[in-house]
Amino acid sequence: MSEILTINNLKVWFHTRRGTFKALNGVNLNLRKGEVLGLAGESGSGKSTLGLSIMALLPSNAIIVRGSKIILKNRDYLKYFELFPEEKIDRKFKIKKNQKIMKHIRDFLAKIRGKEVSMVFQEPMTALNPLLQIGYQITEALLAHSSINLAKRILSRINLTEDDVREILKIVKSSKNVEKDLNEFSKLKKLDGIEDQVLYILNRKDLSTIRKERMIYSLKEKMKNPLTMSYLKKIAENKSIGIYRFLNRIPILKRYLKGVLIKEGYRKAIELLAMLNIPHAEKVVYMYPHELSGGMRQRVSIAIALANNPDIIILDEPTSALDVIVQYQILQLISELKYKLNISFIFISHDLSVLAEVCDRIAIMYGGRIVEIGPIDKIFYESLHPYTKGLLRAIPKISKDIKTIESIPGTVPDMRNPPNGCMFHPRCPYVMDVCRNKVPKSIEYSKDHFVECFLYGE
Ligand code: SF4
Repeated sequence: MSEILTINNLKVWFHTRRGTFKALNGVNLNLRKGEVLGLAGESGSGKSTLGLSIMALLPSNAIIVRGSKIILKNRDYLKYFELFPEEKIDRKFKIKKNQKIMKHIRDFLAKIRGKEVSMVFQEPMTALNPLLQIGYQITEALLAHSSINLAKRILSRINLTEDDVREILKIVKSSKNVEKDLNEFSKLKKLDGIEDQVLYILNRKDLSTIRKERMIYSLKEKMKNPLTMSYLKKIAENKSIGIYRFLNRIPILKRYLKGVLIKEGYRKAIELLAMLNIPHAEKVVYMYPHELSGGMRQRVSIAIALANNPDIIILDEPTSALDVIVQYQILQLISELKYKLNISFIFISHDLSVLAEVCDRIAIMYGGRIVEIGPIDKIFYESLHPYTKGLLRAIPKISKDIKTIESIPGTVPDMRNPPNGCMFHPRCPYVMDVCRNKVPKSIEYSKDHFVECFLYGE
């Protein structure tokens, strides 16, 4: 399987009043096409920060340290930014300059966020807008990245050329290049019928702009199809004014065209919801989040994430807020989507038994590092790292007395003042002198099974 995402030496720290919080400390990870990669670890191990870093949804006090690499589809997007080197992140750190860098990274990634990578959050009620219909929320995601696809869908049903559609999209998105396109219209053949009527209305001196707008809008029914902006553009050319200015005089038409795309968005939303096994999808699109159950809301969040056919979906504890039956249904759904759509998933969870249901590989995080990563059977039956073994022992077993659930002694380190050497050494039952001073390197213990621990290797 080819790699779709590679993360190298990713360090993400947070500048706080009480010191620098070192959330990620050199994460190395790869995600393959069409696989589900589980990310497990206790709260505070850096799982969610890793997900948010891939999405560039980090707050302004976040610092991505120089040398970090996030390579998405062979593009290392961090290389465009002048990141701070580790040694310069001290008390005199230039936070304002860093905030600017973070803003640039966020803006840069906004173009691909939702389109190539999208994310599903733990609590769908907070992820969804309570004031907007489900269909509209899915449509918004489509309009942000795939309006051309929506327009193509309209095209496939009505007799329009792609040029017409591009034209409409430029108008809807208020493109700056529309003036340039005006040259194209001179090549088009002469106007007749409806166009003359529109021109006549525009030339009337006794009518207000709003009245003209309404009259033109009322003609739309007579037009060959609802997307007849090319005619209006030609008229604008005749009037020797720029089409953009011209359309700004007729905002009702602008809104109308946007309405056409939104209507198509609802159609696509119904298809997406039906694909996610939501019954009566045609009714659900007109509902609001509070009218749906938790499981349904999470399916809607997944539909939004899927809307633009992304290559990667990051699921941040998507089943933690759901009861076990619904949890199982969502896990089934993720497995189905993996096979149907060949999407890669990063599934973040503190619950290894949930990951066991869907993942191909599992990465175990501790102290902002991946301490072990490998195929699911190796992690469960041949785990190597003492922390992984501790996590596995902590899974409650029905056959055991509930009072004797095992846990890992100690707590996750304070990442403002992390321990030297191996981050796990204060809690590790096998700790050695070397562990206190040196950070273990990742070694490939067996095929595709990597571990960071001095107990293995030389
Ligand atoms: Fe334990 Fe040392 Fe391995 Fe860390 S490197 S997990 S302290 S044995």
